[in-house]
Amino acid sequence: MIKVKKRKILLLPGDGIGPEVITEVKKIIEWFNKNKSLDFEIDEDLVGGAAYDKHGTPITDEVFYKALESEAVILGAVGGPKWDDLEFSKKPERALLKLRKELKLFANLRPAICFKQLVEASSLKPEIVSGLDIMIVRELTGGIYFGEPRGIKPIDNGERKGINTHTYTSSEIERVARIAFDLAKKRKNKVTSCEKSNVMEAGQLWKEEVQSLHEKEYKEVELKHMLADNCAMQLLRNPKQFDVIVTDNLFGDILSDEAAMLTGSLGLLPSASLGAKDKNGNIRSMYEPIHGSAPDIAGKRIANPIASILSFSMALRYSLNLEKEADDLDNAVQNVLDDGLRTKDILSKGKKEVSTETMGNAIIACLQK
Ligand code: NAD
Repeated sequence: MIKVKKRKILLLPGDGIGPEVITEVKKIIEWFNKNKSLDFEIDEDLVGGAAYDKHGTPITDEVFYKALESEAVILGAVGGPKWDDLEFSKKPERALLKLRKELKLFANLRPAICFKQLVEASSLKPEIVSGLDIMIVRELTGGIYFGEPRGIKPIDNGERKGINTHTYTSSEIERVARIAFDLAKKRKNKVTSCEKSNVMEAGQLWKEEVQSLHEKEYKEVELKHMLADNCAMQLLRNPKQFDVIVTDNLFGDILSDEAAMLTGSLGLLPSASLGAKDKNGNIRSMYEPIHGSAPDIAGKRIANPIASILSFSMALRYSLNLEKEADDLDNAVQNVLDDGLRTKDILSKGKKEVSTETMGNAIIACLQK
């Protein structure tokens, strides 16, 4: 068999259940190395509260440079009550913000897939969510969360005023829209772009720039513009009308959480954050489950590792150009669910409860078949 070049993957397990779920990802990467003649070079380091405990900072410069050098960063989760009272700059979450900002991860991809085996876990009717497969592309480094001026200031009448500024440039809109159109071409070829062009100038610019890029380069992709409030409503009324949704940082934050809940479980949903190309033409990226560190179940060996495993599958697809391996891994997860294995968070009557480790092993056994 021909060996391909080594690809560096940095694992940052983090806090709480992070190390438990990333252990299962590591086993899967090692399985690919051994059985598929792939040569991933795995490095692992501390981030979040674990890094603060050892080094007094949520992310050291050394780890940050390792992230810059890696083809993909896979993160577990950070945070927990132990670190809640730290000053802002030392909080575990600062590590995430630093990675997102410095790696310039401007596009956050969050699939909302409703596994047919878990349709009953959704709060919506089975016929509304069964077979659901949406990709939400959220702009991640601009908009109202970063715009200036911002702050809280006293005003004349003794009151205070809170200020945030919603701002986007043409290029910020174009680069994230491009990711959405490219993704749609590999899916059902449909993009819905959401903004509030009826009441916000930045929303009007968003709509115009997406439309202009569409006319210049992506005429073959179906494009629909939708007001963000209507999108929130349509996601509950008829979510299967959507393929790829592209939207700004604020609306994306809300719409992606709403879409996640259509699927019923936090423990199943992965995410990818993609950035600009580096000098070698590789896209900078970070992959992480959408859930947090779940301190309430940490150490109990019951955490669901599927969201993290599917995050690695996204890394195979979007950073490592290994579509076939990504499909194999996605299918292995489906097969394990078909076999009736469930971690506690997705357990239902008649299914078999398994630990984090057993779930990981079962997915590997399915890959083996
Ligand atoms: P959470 O996602 O950690 O947990 C919410 C609920 O879902 C909990 O009951 C938890 O047990 C359950 N859950 C989450 N993931 C699960 C999994 N894989 N398997 C089984 N059950 C799972 O959210 P939270 O409780 O609001 O936050 C806990 C900590 O995580 C906080 O410190 C928060 O700041 C941090 N957090 C980190 C990230 C991140 O690292 N990206 C994201 C969200 C929250």
